[in-house]
Amino acid sequence: MSQKSFASSADLADKEQTLEVLGDGIYALTAEGDPNVGAIEGEDFLVCFEAMATPVAAREWLVRLREHTDKPVRYLVLSHYHAVRTLGASAFDADIIVSHENTKALIAERGKQDWASEFARMPRLAKSPESVPGLTWPTLTFTDRMTIDLGGERGDLVLQYCGRGHTEGDIIAWLPRHGILYAGDLVEAQAALYTGDAFHHDWSTSTLDKVRSFGATTLIGGRGAVTHGRDAVNAAIDQTRNFLTVLLAEVSSVFQAGGTLKEAFERTHAALSPRYGKWPIFEHCLPFDVSRAWDELAGIERPVIWTAERDREVWDQLA
Ligand SMILES: [Zn+2]
Repeated sequence: MSQKSFASSADLADKEQTLEVLGDGIYALTAEGDPNVGAIEGEDFLVCFEAMATPVAAREWLVRLREHTDKPVRYLVLSHYHAVRTLGASAFDADIIVSHENTKALIAERGKQDWASEFARMPRLAKSPESVPGLTWPTLTFTDRMTIDLGGERGDLVLQYCGRGHTEGDIIAWLPRHGILYAGDLVEAQAALYTGDAFHHDWSTSTLDKVRSFGATTLIGGRGAVTHGRDAVNAAIDQTRNFLTVLLAEVSSVFQAGGTLKEAFERTHAALSPRYGKWPIFEHCLPFDVSRAWDELAGIERPVIWTAERDREVWDQLA
C-alpha cells in the first residue's frame, strides 16, 4: 500500500455549509461531512449546540445565525470534549457552558493533548488556530439528564446522557415537541465513524438503543446531512451500529487468533470499505479506530490519550 498523507492533513478544500431551519427557531448547519452544529431559540435567549474548532470558525457560523435571530446565547451545549467541538466556545459569549460531568473531567485530563492531536489531524477545521484562547471549561455539568425550558409555547429542550459511546461523556439534545434530535457524534449520517476514544461495545448496544428509543423524526448527526423521517433516522442509527459491530467483530477475530494489529487493520478495512469506504474521513479514522478497538479487546478500559506523537506512530504502522 502506498503511504497516504497523515490523517486529513492533505484535505484542504473547504466544504459547502448548509443552514437548515427545521422548525420555528430550530437550526442545523451541516457541511458535507465536516462537524455539524445547531441552535435552538428560547423565548428570549438562544441555546447553541457545539462550538466548532476555533472562534474564527464559530464567528462565521454566528454571522449566518444572526441573519435569523439576534437573541443572546444563554447556553452553549458541548456534546463531548473533542477539540473540533469545543475550542470555538469563546466566540459565543455564552452565559453558561453545559456538558456532561465526564466531559469536563476529560478536558482536564486530556484536553491539551487532544487539541494538538486534532488540529494536526485535520488542519482545515482549525481555522486561525491562534484565535483559540485556551481550553473550554464547562460551567454547568450534569450526569444523566437536564431540561431547559425554552419559554412560551416552545416546550423543553432535553439534554440526555445515553451511556458511553463515541467518548465517555456524550450527550444528545432532544426537542420532544418537534421530534428533533441532535445526536452529536453518537450517530453519523453517511460519514465514517471516529472511534479512537470510544467504547465500542456499549456504543453499539445499549447507548444506540437509548438514542433510538426517543423515536426522533428528524436527526442531526455529528457529520453528514440532516436526516428527515423516522425510517431515515433509524437507518442512520443502524448504519452507525453496523459500522461499530463489523469493526469490533473483525478486530476481535484477529485478536482472538493471536494475530497482529496490522492484520486487524487490513481485515477491518476490507470488511468496511465496500459500504463505508467512500464516505468522509473513512481513511482518516480507521487506523485510530482499529487501534482503540484492539485496546478495548485487550482489556484497556479507558482510551489511551492520543498525542500528536502517538497519532504518527499508529498512522505509520497502519496506514
Ligand atoms: Zn468527536
